[in-house]
Amino acid sequence: MKSKIKVLIQPIGEIRKEIIRKLAQELNEKLNLFNTSISSKIIPIPKEAFNPLRKQYYSPIIMKELYLRTNSKDYDKVLGIIDRDLYVKGLNFIFGEAQLGGKYAIISIHRLKPQFYGQLPNEQLFLERMLKEAVHEIGHTIGLKHCRNKYCVMHFSNNILDTDIKGYKFCEKCLAKIFKLL
Ligand SMILES: [Zn+2]
Ligand SMILES: [Zn+2]
Repeated sequence: MKSKIKVLIQPIGEIRKEIIRKLAQELNEKLNLFNTSISSKIIPIPKEAFNPLRKQYYSPIIMKELYLRTNSKDYDKVLGIIDRDLYVKGLNFIFGEAQLGGKYAIISIHRLKPQFYGQLPNEQLFLERMLKEAVHEIGHTIGLKHCRNKYCVMHFSNNILDTDIKGYKFCEKCLAKIFKLL
């Protein structure tokens, strides 16, 4: 690989700065693949994305907003981050969404908080989950599909247990694919 992948983290709506800073730091330090920056501006959450019946936000509208409002010419990938529950048609919820082999991805931190499952806050666990979902969605933008290895970061998370079982790293097969794709 010639150089690291330049990733811009773009907050959508209010999110604690500290947690975004830590995510960027972990993306840079734990995987030798990314050079991550954080956008200083915040994109407002589009109101029309909210579905009052589901009390969730329609992810494709958020993705479009991310695409329209980010000046991304200096970056290879743009990772939106939002603290709202996201869905797409046919799924109860999603942890994130990405353009396969594209540039844009989003993760929702809503269901990554232990409090969502009635547990006590756990910053370390929360951050670990964020890292996994961020790497997973960026992996899709690189062109990776889901991996059958349940410990690989590209394994599909049907629920939070899947996320907790998998690691934040790509398995050897996925890593080999990355080097081919880049
Ligand atoms: Zn996926
Ligand atoms: Zn894999």
